[in-house]
Amino acid sequence: MRIDLHAHSTASDGTDSPAELVAAAAGAGLDVVALTDHDTTAGYAEAAAALRALPAGALTLVTGAELSCRGGDGIGMHLLAYLFDPDEPEFARERDLVRTDRVRRAQAVVERCRALGAPVTWEQVRRIAGDGSVGRPHVASALVEAGVVPTVGDAFTPEWLADGGRADVPKHELDPLEAVRLVRAAGGVAVLAHPGASKRGRTVSDRTVGELAAAGLAGLEVDHMDHDGPTRARLRDLASGLGLLATGSSDYHGSRKTVRLGDSTTDPAVYEELVGRATGAKPLTS
Ligand code: AMP
Ligand code: FE
Ligand code: FE
Ligand code: ZN
Repeated sequence: MRIDLHAHSTASDGTDSPAELVAAAAGAGLDVVALTDHDTTAGYAEAAAALRALPAGALTLVTGAELSCRGGDGIGMHLLAYLFDPDEPEFARERDLVRTDRVRRAQAVVERCRALGAPVTWEQVRRIAGDGSVGRPHVASALVEAGVVPTVGDAFTPEWLADGGRADVPKHELDPLEAVRLVRAAGGVAVLAHPGASKRGRTVSDRTVGELAAAGLAGLEVDHMDHDGPTRARLRDLASGLGLLATGSSDYHGSRKTVRLGDSTTDPAVYEELVGRATGAKPLTS
């Protein structure tokens, strides 16, 4: 069983449409893939339809989302939410608030880039993002198109879009404890995404992870390309000490990142435990 619990589509900052992502997951030999777009469930219907076109039993789709959070200490966190009821109104409203503010923020990021001399426009970023949940990676693609930087990754520096960088602008984000509560109230399970990804900025403290665990967090994403060996070992110890599950996933973004589907995977027993705890939705099988 090859299980990848973190992947993005054009519903946010991935480059594969939800249908293409489902096909790519089957093509990569995955048994389970989770669709976890940033702050949105907009890709679910297309992914589910694409699943029905596959041979019976070929692939299981876990519906999810990756929630943008920031703690009281100012540390940014991404919370993976799986198998929640997408129609539960309170959580749906909070996702909507985050997505709406992403538009204002992306426009402000474009203005900063222009003030810094980069010939990018909001119309260009809007075209690149389509109707997806807009974010810095779309601005990064615009900077690449404009010849300002060679790759998307090169736009995530202090000169441009990195956290606190010259063109970065904050967006509305959820309090992580509140986010765990919202996910659970909608019948979902919550896993902290890439908690040791230090190149993205300051990382969450063990103490905060403990508080999230007490609030009902189910797991930590331990195996992730942004974690080196010692970081994985430390996070695995932290998870086991707090009674949290340890997951692994690619965080696939299509051609916007170099990672491939299935580059990191989750243990089947851990996957079964996550599914067993969810009451908001069931995995979908082709
Ligand atoms: P946003 O959601 O608009 O705040 O942008 C955050 C997103 O940018 C993350 O979900 C990643 O997909 C992407 N990102 C962050 N750091 C990097 C990086 N160093 N290289 C490429 N993409 C990045
Ligand atoms: Fe992303
Ligand atoms: Fe993330
Ligand atoms: Zn992600």
